[in-house]
Amino acid sequence: MTIPLSEEQRAFKTAAERFAREKLAPHYQAREQEPAIDRKLVREMGALGLIGTDLPESHGGLGLPSETTGVIIEALAYGDFNVAYVQLLGSLCGQIIARHAAGDLAAQWLPRIVSGECLVSLALTEPRGGSDAANLALSARPTDTGYVLNGEKSSISIADQADASLVFARTGTPEDGARGVSAFLVPMNAPGVTASRFSDLGSKIVARGSIFFDDVQVPRANRLAAEGAGFVQVMQGFDFSRALIGLQCIAAAQASLDESWAYVSERKAFGAPLSRHQGVTFPLAEHESMAAAVRQLCYHTLRLRDAGQPHTAEAAMCKWLGPKTAVDIIHQCLLTHGHYGWSLDLPHQQRMRDVMGLEIGDGTAQIMKLIISREMLNRAR
Ligand SMILES: Cc1cc2nc3c(=O)[nH]c(=O)nc-3n(C[C@H](O)[C@H](O)[C@H](O)COP(=O)(O)OP(=O)(O)OC[C@H]3O[C@@H](n4cnc5c(N)ncnc54)[C@H](O)[C@@H]3O)c2cc1C
Repeated sequence: MTIPLSEEQRAFKTAAERFAREKLAPHYQAREQEPAIDRKLVREMGALGLIGTDLPESHGGLGLPSETTGVIIEALAYGDFNVAYVQLLGSLCGQIIARHAAGDLAAQWLPRIVSGECLVSLALTEPRGGSDAANLALSARPTDTGYVLNGEKSSISIADQADASLVFARTGTPEDGARGVSAFLVPMNAPGVTASRFSDLGSKIVARGSIFFDDVQVPRANRLAAEGAGFVQVMQGFDFSRALIGLQCIAAAQASLDESWAYVSERKAFGAPLSRHQGVTFPLAEHESMAAAVRQLCYHTLRLRDAGQPHTAEAAMCKWLGPKTAVDIIHQCLLTHGHYGWSLDLPHQQRMRDVMGLEIGDGTAQIMKLIISREMLNRAR
C-alpha cells in the first residue's frame, strides 16, 4: 500500500530503498552485536541526502516537506529499524535547533547533523519519571555568562554516543511547572558531562543510558528559545517525531509481513501450501489492512504539519497506534513461521523487541491518549 508521491519524493524513496536493501537489511541482525550505530553508515546516509531533508537550506538541509522525511524513514526502517533512529533524532533535534537556536549555534550544528558527521540526543526523561515530563529536577542556575547544569537525565537514546544533547532543565522554581523549564544544546565533551548505558531488551545499538551533569557550564548562547519557554515551545517538535515513529514501526512490521506472505506461499501443510488455508492468510490480511491504515494516518499527520494545520491529536494517535499495531503484526508473523519463528536466526523476534521500545519511548500509550482526549475536548468546546 503506497501513497501518491511527487517525482522528487519518488527519487528519495528509490535512493533510501536501495540503501536499505543493499547496506541495512543484510546486516540488521548481526548489527545487534555491535556497540553503537556505525558512523560510517551515518556519513553514507548523509552523503546521499537521507538525513534531515526537512531542515532549512540555509543550514545544509533541503527544506523539503515533512512528508518526504516520512518516506525516507519508512524506507530505511524497513531495512533496519534501529539505524532509522538517525533520521528520527536528526529531524526531531534538527528542527528544534533550526526553530529555536540562535543563528551561530544553528550554523555550528545543523550542517553536521545533515552530513552525518554528528548525532544529537534529546534528554528530557529523568530518573524519577518521564510521563510527567514537565516535573524536572535537573537544574540550570543562571551565571553572568550563562548557566550551570546539575542533575541526571535517564533513559536517553544514544546517550553515550551522541556528540551533543538537547537538554531540558529547570531554570524556574518547581511551582513554575512547565513554564520554569528551558532547553539547552550541550556538547557531550563539555567538562562535567558523563554518560552511562543500560542493558536493554532491544534496539541495542541505540543504547539508552543516563547522562550526568556535574557543574556543567553552558554559555547563554546555547539556550534554545526564551528562558522558561523550553517546554511549551520546544515540545512542539514531538508532533513531528510521533508521526515519524509510526512510520518507522510500521515499516519494520511490513518487512515481517512481506516475509510471511513469501513463507506461506512456499511452506506446505496438509498437502497444500500454507497460503491455501484461510486460517493462515486471514490474520495476515487483517494485519496488512491495519498497517495500511496506520501508514495513511501517519502521512495524513505529516501533510497537516506541512500545511501548517493543527496535528497534535493526530500525532499522538500515530504514536500509540503505530508501535502497538507493529508489535501485534510482528508477533503474528513470528507465529506464522511456526517453530522457525521462535528461532533467533529469523529477524521477527528482534523486530518485536526493537519496536516494543517505542511503545514507551517518546511517551506511552496512556500519555498519548491523555493528549488526544485533551485535544478532542478542546475541539468540542
Ligand atoms: C526505547 C526507549 C527510548 C527512549 N528514548 C528517550 C530519549 O531519547 N529521550 C528521553 O528523554 N527519554 C527517552 N525515553 C524515555 C521515555 O520517554 C519514558 O520512559 C516515557 O516517557 C515514560 O516515562 P517513565 O518510563 O518514567 O514511566 P512513568 O512515567 O513512571 O510511567 C509508568 C507507567 O505509568 C503510566 N502512567 C503514568 N502517568 C499516567 C497517567 N497520568 N495516566 C495513565 N497512565 C500513566 C505510563 O503510561 C507507564 O505505563 C526512552 C524510552 C525507551 C523505552
